[in-house]
Parts: sequence; structure tokens; C-alpha cells
Amino acid sequence: MAANIPFVDLTRQHQVISKELESAMKGVLDSGCFVQGLQLEAFEQEFAAYCEVAHCVGVGNGLDALALLLRAYGIGPGDEVIVPTNTFIATWLAVTAVGATIVPVEPDERAHNLSPALIEAHITPRTRCVMPVHLYGQPADMDPIMALADRHGLVVIEDNAQAQGALYKGRPTGSLGHAAATSFYPGKNLGALGDGGAVVTSDPAIAGRVRMLRNYGSEKKYDHQALGCNSRLDEIQAAVLRVKLRQLGEWNKERRAIAARYDYLLGGLHVIRPSVPESVTPVWHLYVIRSEHRDALQAHLRDQGIQTIIHYPVPPHQQACYASQMPGNSYPLTECLCSEVLSLPMYPGLTEAEQHRVALSIASFRH
Ligand SMILES: *Cc1c(COP(=O)(O)O)cnc(C)c1O
Repeated sequence: MAANIPFVDLTRQHQVISKELESAMKGVLDSGCFVQGLQLEAFEQEFAAYCEVAHCVGVGNGLDALALLLRAYGIGPGDEVIVPTNTFIATWLAVTAVGATIVPVEPDERAHNLSPALIEAHITPRTRCVMPVHLYGQPADMDPIMALADRHGLVVIEDNAQAQGALYKGRPTGSLGHAAATSFYPGKNLGALGDGGAVVTSDPAIAGRVRMLRNYGSEKKYDHQALGCNSRLDEIQAAVLRVKLRQLGEWNKERRAIAARYDYLLGGLHVIRPSVPESVTPVWHLYVIRSEHRDALQAHLRDQGIQTIIHYPVPPHQQACYASQMPGNSYPLTECLCSEVLSLPMYPGLTEAEQHRVALSIASFRH
């Protein structure tokens, strides 16, 4: 029996750069500076440049990045924030964290992302913000969303946790809205060796505010202007991220090649492959297929030693923490997608032979 194919294997990407990672971490150890130092400063400059924006502020994780941005824009109780129904729960939790009201909107069925046409119907006089998520590494349709936001005076915050390096009409995600939050959770396309996150924006006032809030509401030591928190990207993670940022272009290219091979191998089989609008270049954080017999298909793959994951099995509005606040809310498309989506193994280092095995196993599935 062939070796199992894990859903994700980070050791494969780390092996390639283990020397650089070790020397980056050793450098921090020898410097004696572990928080708010030169590594963070350098990474912030490099990641801002990568996203083609003026400012980056490193923070503790992706959820904090989203919530700190909402706070920086002064969004709070009484304000409405439009979010996708089919996202990781962090998008919703950030809105809840600042006391604002979640307004869930269903996605476009093919792209899995917020659809500009559906957003418009949910705008009220209380709407302050739209938070599109570039789900699975594929940019949302941002031009019409920005046009809508302009017309209604809304702030657009991109949730770019899954799409670092993706392009929309040639422009990188993170530079498309007024500001963006991202996550460096280890499994993301650009992952740290622990938790991490960042805010990017070309608005100096917003960057400054997040910078203050992440550090106890303080710009000067022991001078506290706002009720801040402690959410910082530490020196070890910043040093590691600098090494990995240099690889990100190659890794994303490899993910695109893996996606193209899956597209080819799965053609003609009884699953729905991802659909990619012409205006975007995705970075394939996940390669997500759909099947009406998803659970049986997943079990069949598991029996053949192939691990898959469902993103996400239960949508936020049906989670215990939200269900009681929004009784009767039903999002049929999202609920249907949750019952049909299946994420296949996808990561730099996944081999062609392994992809063939995945495809053969799907081809041999009978329900
Ligand atoms: C991972 C993720 C987050 C949260 O990031 P953390 O660093 O885990 O807090 C937010 N939104 C989306 C879409 C994500 O995938």
C-alpha cells in the first residue's frame, strides 16, 4: 500500500529553506531583542511593498488584524458590517468583537465570493463597512464592490488571510480595498511558525491607529492615548516571515501548477471543479471541488489513504455561538455549499504522482 497523502505537509516547504530559517531564528536569539525590533520593521516594509501599499502593521494574528482595523475606522455598536455567509468564523468574530452588527450576505455560487449584486440589497443607513473575503485564495470581484462602497460612503476591508499574492486585474490583494487584514497562521500561503497577522493600507492615519492600538494604545512608552490591546508580531516570527516571503512567489506558482494539473486530471469526472473568473489570478490556498455525494467520496478517499478537509462543514450562522442570536436565519446556498465542498491536498511539495493517485481514487468512486 502506498504512503498516505496528508491534506497538508508543511515540512516539505520548510526542508527547502531550513538553513535560512535556522539562521534567521539564531539571528534573533543573538540580537537579544524579541518584540518590536528591527526584524518587524523590515518585514513590515517588505510586506507592504509586496502588497503594493504604503503601510503594513504586524499584529498577533488574523482575527486581531480584522478587529483592529474595524476599531481604527471607528466602527462599533450600532454600525452594520456586511460579511460573507460562507467564511471562516474569524471574519464574523471580528465584527462581534467591536460590538458592531453582522449582516451576512450569500456568495456567488461559482466564485464562492461575495457578489456585488447581492451586497447592494443589504445596504441600510447604518451600513459602515463591507468585508469581502478572498476565499480559497481567489480574489473577490473588487471593482464593483469599491464602486458600490464609493456610492454609499462605505469602508472596504479585505479579509486577505487566504490570498497573499493573488491578483485581481493585475493588482495584488491587500491593495484593492481601503485596508486589508491577513493571517500568518502556519497553514496559510505565507505562514509563520506560530501565530501572526498583519494589517496593510495606504492610509497613514489608519496604519498609525492600528500601530497604537496593537501596543497598549501607546505611541510613546507609558503614554496611553486609547484603550489598546497587546497584539504584536514578534521578532522570531517576523524574521521567519522575511525568509518565507522571498519564497512566496515560487510557492504560489507551484500551487497554480498543482491546480492546473488537478483541473486536467479531474476533467470529465463527476465532481465540480473550481471556476476561476478571467479577471483573477488565484493563489490556490485551497483546491475545493464539489460533489453531491461528498461525505461518501471523502470516506472513499480516506480508505485509500488520502486525507481531505471540508472548508467549512458548518457555516457561522449555524454555529452555537451565533445560532441563538439569529434564529430563523437561513442561507440555502451556503448550507448547500457546506454539504458539497471538499478540499483536496494542496501545498508546495505535493508530487505529480500523488495528484495522480488522488485523481484515480476520485475516478474509482461509486456511490
Ligand atoms: C485564517 C483566517 C482568519 C484568521 O486568522 P488567524 O490568524 O487564525 O486569527 C480570518 N479569516 C479567514 C478567511 C481565514 O482563513
